[in-house]
Amino acid sequence: MRKNIVAGNWKMNKDVIDAQQLMFQILEYKKNNPTNCEVWIAPPSLYLMMAKDLYEKDEVGVFSQDMSEHESGAYTGEISASMLESIEATGSIIGHSERRQYHGETDSHCNRKIKLALDKGLIPIYCNGETLEQRKSGQHLEVVKNQTEVALFTLTADEIKKVVIAYEPVWAIGTGETATPEQAQEIHAHIRNLIAAKYGKEVADEISILYGGSVKPDNAKEIFSQPDIDGGLIGGAALKIEDFAKIIEGFN
Ligand code: 13P
Repeated sequence: MRKNIVAGNWKMNKDVIDAQQLMFQILEYKKNNPTNCEVWIAPPSLYLMMAKDLYEKDEVGVFSQDMSEHESGAYTGEISASMLESIEATGSIIGHSERRQYHGETDSHCNRKIKLALDKGLIPIYCNGETLEQRKSGQHLEVVKNQTEVALFTLTADEIKKVVIAYEPVWAIGTGETATPEQAQEIHAHIRNLIAAKYGKEVADEISILYGGSVKPDNAKEIFSQPDIDGGLIGGAALKIEDFAKIIEGFN
């Protein structure tokens, strides 16, 4: 179902004390401030159960930052969709550009992970986006089209409706350089049109598409006001309650 979402990707940050503190602060904020969006976090896997214990009424969605493409077995270091299901996690980020860059992940891997996640009732947040070179050479629409097709287009209509997509141009991640709202809107509309062409407009209109890449308190509102942008996947600015809260207020 298409909804407004602000999701924090904590990446590899915070020790257990700091993580717990921020989880508490987000809960307190949610209790005291009605929000016009869903609030999700993706802390390091080590802290997922702590988050689940704290958010006993599911006030905040709890996501892993990645999950295995395998169901179970001898895959040292990995966590599976079943494990996430067993702690009642909300879902998993899949295909983040840092996983692609440092761990060789491809859209075929993403496709397998997305299917496994959906089979276990988890929400996949599927990330895609072009590099700076690809944008400079005018390939961005084609790149995002290929990514979307390979990762998602083997899904049924009922399945794809449950996926959340995060467009994260690689050149805007952690660089302080944000796509302009118009640049982001162009790609979001492109993704929605691709889905509409394959599955029909009704399906495309049910899918939340988030923008990620240097979203900050001072640019969130303008980005979120674009017609095809349904929220943000936030990195650095999700690590402090003051910044994260202001970004959530971009929907007020
Ligand atoms: P920044 O907000 O730090 O640019 O990170 C974005 C991101 O990668 C979220 O997944």
